[in-house]
Amino acid sequence: MKLAHVYLEYQKLSLNHTFTYDCQDLPVERGMRVKVPFGNRLSVGFVDHVEEVERYEGRYQLKAVYEVLDEKPLINEELFALAKQMSYHYVAPMISCFQAMLPSKIKPRSHKDKVVFETWIEYVMHKRNPTKRQLEVLDEMKVLQSISKREFLMLYKSVGTRLIKEGCFRELLCEKEALLQGERLDVKKKLSAAQEKAFAEIKAAKQDVVLLHGMTGSGKTELYLQLAQEVVEAGETVLVLVPEIALTPQMVKRVTMRFGADVAIYHSGLSPQQKYEQYQLVAKGRVHIVVGTRSAVFMPFAKLGLIVMDEEHDNSYKQDQSPRYHCRDVALWRGRYHHCKVLLGSATPSLESYARAYKQVYGLVSLKERINKQMPKIDLVDMKGSMRKGAHHLIAPALKEAIEQCVMRKEQVILLLNRRGHTPILRCGECGEVLHCPHCDSAMAYHKQKQVLKCHICDTTTAVPTACPNCHATQSFEYIGYGTQRMEEALLSLLPGIRVLRMDRDTTTQKDAHERLLEQFENQEYDILLGTQMIAKGLDFENVTLVGILNADAGLARSDYACVEETFDLLYQACGRSGRGAKAGRVMMQVFDTEHYAVRCAMLQDYEQFFYHEMRYRHLAGYPPYRYLSSVVLHHAQSDVAREESERLLAQFQGRKDILFLGVSELGKRMDRFRFRILMKSKDQDRMIQLLHEMYAYHASAKMRTKIELDSETVGS
Ligand code: ADP
Ligand code: ZN
Repeated sequence: MKLAHVYLEYQKLSLNHTFTYDCQDLPVERGMRVKVPFGNRLSVGFVDHVEEVERYEGRYQLKAVYEVLDEKPLINEELFALAKQMSYHYVAPMISCFQAMLPSKIKPRSHKDKVVFETWIEYVMHKRNPTKRQLEVLDEMKVLQSISKREFLMLYKSVGTRLIKEGCFRELLCEKEALLQGERLDVKKKLSAAQEKAFAEIKAAKQDVVLLHGMTGSGKTELYLQLAQEVVEAGETVLVLVPEIALTPQMVKRVTMRFGADVAIYHSGLSPQQKYEQYQLVAKGRVHIVVGTRSAVFMPFAKLGLIVMDEEHDNSYKQDQSPRYHCRDVALWRGRYHHCKVLLGSATPSLESYARAYKQVYGLVSLKERINKQMPKIDLVDMKGSMRKGAHHLIAPALKEAIEQCVMRKEQVILLLNRRGHTPILRCGECGEVLHCPHCDSAMAYHKQKQVLKCHICDTTTAVPTACPNCHATQSFEYIGYGTQRMEEALLSLLPGIRVLRMDRDTTTQKDAHERLLEQFENQEYDILLGTQMIAKGLDFENVTLVGILNADAGLARSDYACVEETFDLLYQACGRSGRGAKAGRVMMQVFDTEHYAVRCAMLQDYEQFFYHEMRYRHLAGYPPYRYLSSVVLHHAQSDVAREESERLLAQFQGRKDILFLGVSELGKRMDRFRFRILMKSKDQDRMIQLLHEMYAYHASAKMRTKIELDSETVGS
């Protein structure tokens, strides 16, 4: 008989547990989805493998597969092995790894989602006495054979309609595919001497992983494109990974202008259908270049020739729910499998990548000057005592003046509002109570236009109460903190008539909003682009000659060890947005702590100095990349249960050799669940991962009532 071993969603068992079903006479293969009876309902599962046996000898009564959902396996052997590796490394159930790998339409747990069909036409016969134009079209179709009707009509319009009417084609119903679009409007630039040298060094590096450390505007992207071109010409595929969506539009534009329709694009802003179509382009080998965010690293490439990871230090490469993978790890694993080069690019590399390059584990290639040979002039504006001096406490007089001059010259400004400490909140002026989310330990953000409060963790939205929930005073709320909305108002009152384009989560909820707003700014419909972290990185506007950073050092006050690195990156990157074209640029950073090394090094645009300073601190404090840091979080609707079980789990494993346990700490409430964390440090990654597996297994076998979340940070040098 034939048995299928199936992964199902079920938390209380080992990570790679499968359930067995009878699949006699069904066309089931490894890597397909099946619908099976589970408990008292039908569930969708993912087939690990199929096996022929004489007789079933399991403990339970054998049930049969109810339905096979796919015609072909969704995952190839490389991706199967990758899922295994992720499951081990990130201590995550196999099914969640497959879940992370596939676009939502074909995720292992989704029911067969409606695949959208469309009409295709196929060449069948020639026409008698065709016109010249008709003949051209028919000849092209003889070569193409088939094409979607939608695309055909876009290409050939009325001539096409005519030929269809005359019966030259047969119509078929096929799965809807992405239209390949894009014209090659751009040719490769002649590399500068510095780029030429870097290009040769990257190709000659003996290591498979190369870190390209190049300051902002030094021409890294141009290098990526030219390296990619060589690989594509050799018939192999290139993956270009980019951080979050904010900078994708510009990168996508540059890649499609260079490579035309040979490009697939994959990011979270696409609809499920669009994602599926882009995924299929790669699965069918129709494109040679893929540009995408984090999850694009799982595309089913046949033969990768190069992986580029732009802004490799960016936090958006890490997924913050299970499996908590880091895209860089996965990129390195895939690079090893395909024997291809992995190029990590950044102006501010992560400490761990730079440390590896320093030790020659990775190759290190540097680009030390900007293409336009100009550095912006960077000034600190000391904000200490600015309130007392009665000046506007958000924008110092010096910055205000610089903005005015810039706008007078018809040049543009980017104003970055450091998000930390800027959430606009409401506080009761009588008793000091801050309005919190009822489900999370978090102050709610105040949205003035809609007069609502919104939680940034769970998105709960409520109307502003009429009285303080604590002291019942009415009309006692004060508005503190400056969000982008309020900043916009402040700017307009300070500089009447100025055209401000605000870019934040509220103005970019619509599809393609990012792209549209950036385009409007590029067309100089606005003087100032105002936003948070979203606008600090990657943007390339020639006419921007002033960057102002408000509250630049606000992030330094946080308690977690990575805050200094984050602040440095943000400031350094933001500086890189100014003076990228022919005109000289300027940057003004408003800070309270003018002496802090993160601020100083950003001002001097000196990454190396920052690296040495920060590494010394990490070494002394025993933080990554000198130690691996892992955490286990238990959460439950009752605080006592979560605390008690966390302490029990800690007691069970404390004292383990080579692992430093930092105790249980309370993380507060999120979405009505109380969270407690056990933090651990070790020099030995294998031991750490092993321990996490044991903790996971213990948590399941001891029938604990909490839910468990593990995070094995892979940071290490
Ligand atoms: P980075 O990715 O390091 O920030 P870019 O590749 O975006 O740098 O280059 C900065 C600017 O210089 C861009 O506007 C780009 O078009 C231009 N540029 C890059 N390389 C060259 C070159 N070899 N010749 C002329 N212009 C270039
Ligand atoms: Zn909440």
